Amino acid sequence: MKTTGVRLTFLGGVNEVGGNNVLLEDFEYDVKIFLDFGINIKKFNDIFEKFEEPSSIKELIKLGLLPKAEDLSVKNLYLNYKTSKDKKFQEPSTNIDGILVSHPHKDHFYGLSFTNRTIPIYTGVFTKKIISAYYKSSRHSICNNYDGLDWRLFRTGDVLDIKGLEIVPVHVDHSIPAAYGFIIKTSKGIVVYSGDFRMHGPLSNMTQDFLLEIKKNLSNTPSKDLSDQDLEKDKTDRIKLLICEGTHINRGTIESEEFVEQNLEQLFVDNPFDFFLVKYDRLNLDRFRTFSFIAKKYGWKFIITEKDAYFYYVMNKDEIYASMKDPNIIDDDHIIILSWGNVKYRWQEKIRQKMYSEHKGYRFITQRDIKDLQKGFFFCITSLQKDIIEKINQNLKGAFISSSIDPYTEEYLDNNRTLNHYFRKHGIPSYKIHASGHAMPHHLINFINSVNPEYLVPIHTEHPLFFRDYFDNSEINVIIPNKNETIDLS
Ligand SMILES: [Zn+2]
Repeated sequence: MKTTGVRLTFLGGVNEVGGNNVLLEDFEYDVKIFLDFGINIKKFNDIFEKFEEPSSIKELIKLGLLPKAEDLSVKNLYLNYKTSKDKKFQEPSTNIDGILVSHPHKDHFYGLSFTNRTIPIYTGVFTKKIISAYYKSSRHSICNNYDGLDWRLFRTGDVLDIKGLEIVPVHVDHSIPAAYGFIIKTSKGIVVYSGDFRMHGPLSNMTQDFLLEIKKNLSNTPSKDLSDQDLEKDKTDRIKLLICEGTHINRGTIESEEFVEQNLEQLFVDNPFDFFLVKYDRLNLDRFRTFSFIAKKYGWKFIITEKDAYFYYVMNKDEIYASMKDPNIIDDDHIIILSWGNVKYRWQEKIRQKMYSEHKGYRFITQRDIKDLQKGFFFCITSLQKDIIEKINQNLKGAFISSSIDPYTEEYLDNNRTLNHYFRKHGIPSYKIHASGHAMPHHLINFINSVNPEYLVPIHTEHPLFFRDYFDNSEINVIIPNKNETIDLS
């Protein structure tokens, strides 16, 4: 018997933060796509030590970190790793029509290393750029292998067409640039996938654009001009299903990037410190901008590593959004780059060449120069660089500012508590100044009420039941699938 309708299988990200992986099958269009192909990073880091790698795709499947394709109606989902080593990708054909990647956080894309190279990967132009920068600046391994992927890039405003199935990607604001939500016009109604988003970031208008685009498809939204009226027939009364992120549905802090800036400025009132060690997610460009702005304003230096510099240089390059050019690695002379020995990697060579060709080579310092640093600098560190304080002139007094990503999400490898403890023993007090990449409870609730879907599936949350309790007695039906469970739309 021919299966009809639309089926969603939740392979990751349900009842957990991250590792989003949803198989959407539209049997009318004969389409099978994945919404994100992430790996649960917290679980991954619990199992594997830093720099430790799984031995095979099989191992990851066994551990539940990658979906078990045999249980699905999916053919040849994974890369044949043995044959791919010689870079000849003669992959057997698959029945997967695409993977949509919402944004470049590992818990949404990290599974791509393992997929069959004939599967088209749909993602934003800049999203791919960040994934590539990440790839190029890390060691090639089974988990970091993006060779030969078939990228299909989009920007907001584009409409994807996969065998007649229309998908509208729209930018949203998140703690990383190039995050998208998707409006998928299935044969059984519109399915919206939010990806990760927030309303309190500097680009919150992007999330509003997503909401407006969703509403444009509803028949109770009047068309602005006459030419739009032929589109009326395509409109629907309600969004069929919303897959919505819910990281912070149960608990919120009133916060914003502006607060981060204001709080940081508070530290400069009667500031007894000569330097600040700071820790935040490298890819959080908003945070880098805030810290760098304050450093510049007070005439302080801002020290980053070569790898950071390479990343930001890639982000600055040929970018259309002004915000992605600020801070500017080449032009911002208060940014100092800590170099690491002789050139070992291609990315290292690239950033050095670029800086020297722009006559900015004087902005490099080496490990040996750290002891000569004078009062007035931010030093951007990871937990692996905590011993940097032993290299700083002992007469200088500093403080540590933790401005990290949210626990359990994305690349939460570093243990802040260990760091605070370590610094305390060195007479360095710790501060926490942060704003999250995820929407606060009231913003999530307002977003869901505005979309007003027939069905709501919370994802990327440890508190899915909260949604059921909250929307109980409303016209929104909350469905909470277990991992590997399906939902059929008819
Ligand atoms: Zn994210």
